[in-house]
Amino acid sequence: ATPTALLVGTGRGAQMGILIKGPEVLESTRRIDTIVLDKTGTVTEGKMTLTEVHLAEGESRDEVLRLAGALEHASEHPIARAIAREAGSKATAEDFTNIEGLGVQGVVDGHAVLVGRPRLLEEWSQHLPDNLVRAMEEEQAKGRTAVAVGWDGKARAVLVVADVIKPTSKEAIAELKALGLTPVLLTGDNEAVARTVAAEVGIDEVIAGVLPAGKVDVVKRLQSEGKVVAMAGDGVNDAAALAQADLGLAMGTGTDAAIEAGDLTLVRGDLRVAPDAIRLARRTLATIK
Ligand code: ADP
Ligand code: MG
Repeated sequence: ATPTALLVGTGRGAQMGILIKGPEVLESTRRIDTIVLDKTGTVTEGKMTLTEVHLAEGESRDEVLRLAGALEHASEHPIARAIAREAGSKATAEDFTNIEGLGVQGVVDGHAVLVGRPRLLEEWSQHLPDNLVRAMEEEQAKGRTAVAVGWDGKARAVLVVADVIKPTSKEAIAELKALGLTPVLLTGDNEAVARTVAAEVGIDEVIAGVLPAGKVDVVKRLQSEGKVVAMAGDGVNDAAALAQADLGLAMGTGTDAAIEAGDLTLVRGDLRVAPDAIRLARRTLATIK
């Protein structure tokens, strides 16, 4: 191959807002047939806001926010930031533990507090009362993420956070499909939420409820089925999957770990640059052949 053409391709990429790790990346880009997209922060903005607090009978909104807020203050997760910001809690948590991809736990004012996936609370025998299960399911059907709050052995509330889909995601996915790629939405969030978001942007395949460590296995599984896989992501929990993929697309707006692991960085965090990158790779290599 002529290195000059590859270098020109790399330079053109930079002008388009695509940072390419090396000229050889263009070769793998050309063969991609499947693109796995992380939901939060990749298809969506990843800037969450607390929109609703659903309480179990007899619970107080202020107390729920005070205890959950104190705990989430210690977490970097976008869900945690939304809750901590809204709560503005003065209390602090002791013995804080982040349970990767599931939630957080700690002690606030002598209460053992848990915030996270309902499944996590169930494991601690904190069962959600019917009114909270119903509220949670209604919110999830609208594409909103629901997390449960419990302390001292009892589920107390469901907090709802809303994210917005990036205005460019739908168009980007239509272009990727037009280029012959199959998009797959991958998330640790609940299936109903993922389905709603997927439908809004035109994705048919959804893999939900995946733990952070499981994202890389999803990429491996698709590869073992013979697929040539691109993965687009922004989070620390996407880094291993980005590295495993035949082509890792890191959102420039994402974490350093993701950018390190990716082959291409989409500088503006705009997914429309993904089809641009694939077209560029195909054109550049056509020049060489
Ligand atoms: P994603 O794949 O969308 O980036 P994560 O794997 O980070 O999601 O998280 C999956 C789920 O775990 C969240 O939807 C939430 O229910 C729960 N979770 C993770 N971290 C936290 C936290 N700090 N506070 C509350 N819930 C959390
Ligand atoms: Mg993400």
